[in-house]
Amino acid sequence: METCDVLIVGGGPAGSSCAWKLRQRGMSVTVMDKAQFPRDKVCAGWITPAVVQALQFDTGDYAKGRVLQPITAIRTGLIHGRELETRYPATISFGIRRCEFDHYLLQRSGARLRLGETLKSLDKRGSLWIANDAIAAPLLIGAGGHFCPVARHLGAKLGAAEDAVTAKEIEFEMDAEQDAGCRVRADTPEIYFCRDLKGYGWCFRKGNYLNIGLGREGHQGLAEHLEDFCDFLKQRGKIPGNIPDKFHGHAYLLRGHAGRKLLDEGVLLVGDAAGLAYAQSGEGIRPAVESGLIAAAVVADAGEDYRYQRLQAYAERLSARFGSEAAPAADMIPGFVRKVLARGLLGSRWATRHVVLDRWFLHARQPAL
Ligand SMILES: Cc1cc2nc3c(=O)[nH]c(=O)nc-3n(C[C@H](O)[C@H](O)[C@H](O)COP(=O)(O)OP(=O)(O)OC[C@H]3O[C@@H](n4cnc5c(N)ncnc54)[C@H](O)[C@@H]3O)c2cc1C
Repeated sequence: METCDVLIVGGGPAGSSCAWKLRQRGMSVTVMDKAQFPRDKVCAGWITPAVVQALQFDTGDYAKGRVLQPITAIRTGLIHGRELETRYPATISFGIRRCEFDHYLLQRSGARLRLGETLKSLDKRGSLWIANDAIAAPLLIGAGGHFCPVARHLGAKLGAAEDAVTAKEIEFEMDAEQDAGCRVRADTPEIYFCRDLKGYGWCFRKGNYLNIGLGREGHQGLAEHLEDFCDFLKQRGKIPGNIPDKFHGHAYLLRGHAGRKLLDEGVLLVGDAAGLAYAQSGEGIRPAVESGLIAAAVVADAGEDYRYQRLQAYAERLSARFGSEAAPAADMIPGFVRKVLARGLLGSRWATRHVVLDRWFLHARQPAL
């Protein structure tokens, strides 16, 4: 039986960030993931600078042989509506490819890796968690994303019962003909909201890779909205006519809509497993990374006392950072007001920059962890 101080199930940004910080605090960590890495993840691959800072990421090192696309402007509007371009004097975000980003973070974490291994069984023997009858640890971190088996163990009803965002995307390397037919600039991703304002589509060029997708509240109508969005992009001459048609789908929960139990004796959930993505933008990588780092600090400070009361500090620190689950994000405008306002906001240069982009998408006022 392999033993470690902390077993992390899931090697995405939440799991690898948590592992990295725990290793820095001298703990022995095993990360189990059902996938072999590098693996892909359905995602636009947009990260805000706070992620880079919190992970003490050497962008020069990372960019060697990997895509790291600086973003200095954003085009926004309603699908089929008027477009606005908002330019910034410096880099406001980066485009990454998840197959590269997640692999890099996991390798860098310093954890023992068990890749290609699915969590199939989870038992508690005394104070120890036993996973797959093969690994024993007193502390378990559920970082398995939206369908995390540890979240299920804590009682989450995974699937249609939850109030999830559903999204689809494709990412592909453009050939010379597609490149010639693509008018989206690499430093200027484009975001267009559905007319009912229940979701938005994006078109995002990262080097020579093009990522197109759309995400919406709920489980209804995604395919129709995506088709309409792609038609709009083609009509405006933004994307080539011959993009691949095999979009990949995924779901995830927004903070304030999740309601998942975050912890129990000897166990914590981080990232999408906990349902932490920002409600305004759907950005999930930053909350995944930050929750992983917060969880690691709480665990390392617990002095091997992993009782519920001791780990409760994790839930308190998440609420302080992201707003409480009942009343998320202190600066969030209530959904119904947002819907009335959003059409006006998207038509105004000032409001697009200061509210839609700086506040909702870039979280410019919230310093890095
Ligand atoms: C279409 C789409 C676009 C998005 N675009 C963005 C974006 O541009 N920027 C942004 O910030 N966020 C974006 N998000 C959200 C973001 O992708 C997630 O919030 C983020 O990946 C969460 O990271 P995580 O580490 O919690 O989970 P994940 O990245 O999902 O990692 C979970 C890991 O757990 C493993 N796992 C799952 N089950 C098991 C099991 N049974 N046993 C072992 N291992 C298991 C998986 O293989 C996976 O590697 C997007 C989401 C979608 C769906």
